Amino acid sequence: MKLDPIYLNQRGSNCTWNRETDKQKYQFLSNQMIELMLKKRGIGLAANQCGLKMQFFVMKKEDGAFTTCINPEILNLSDDWHGKVRMETIEEGCLSFPGEKHMVERPYGIEVRYQDYKGSKVIESLEGIDARCWLHEYDHCQGITIRERSKGEVKDEFKYAKS
Ligand SMILES: [Zn+2]
Repeated sequence: MKLDPIYLNQRGSNCTWNRETDKQKYQFLSNQMIELMLKKRGIGLAANQCGLKMQFFVMKKEDGAFTTCINPEILNLSDDWHGKVRMETIEEGCLSFPGEKHMVERPYGIEVRYQDYKGSKVIESLEGIDARCWLHEYDHCQGITIRERSKGEVKDEFKYAKS
């Protein structure tokens, strides 16, 4: 497992569980990616950063727990007092661009859905650094990096607005 920029600007393909061996395959991949993420001192890593065009990422939450998110979806963005999306702008780095920092505006809180390596659906609310990391990795799955995000160069469907 190593970093490979070939699919950084392409959308990952959806993952399926058609074969008996798929669970083991995803569990193995998850372990390999967590190992690489820790080696590079990151808190998140997407398959698209490793030359694998997949809706698949791993992250380390603020409480130290590791999570594997497959086929991630955003269900909801948290509101501010005016009923708009509560946004926050913070400097982010990315393992795919060593040494680079970009100011990135993202929602403070999110409700998301994804599948674990077994294919079980998970619905979760995240905020702060966990929400930011999740959204950074979700972006990777869609072929978006902090370079495009910081310049606002993303399609309307990826702009953070209430649906
Ligand atoms: Zn990144």
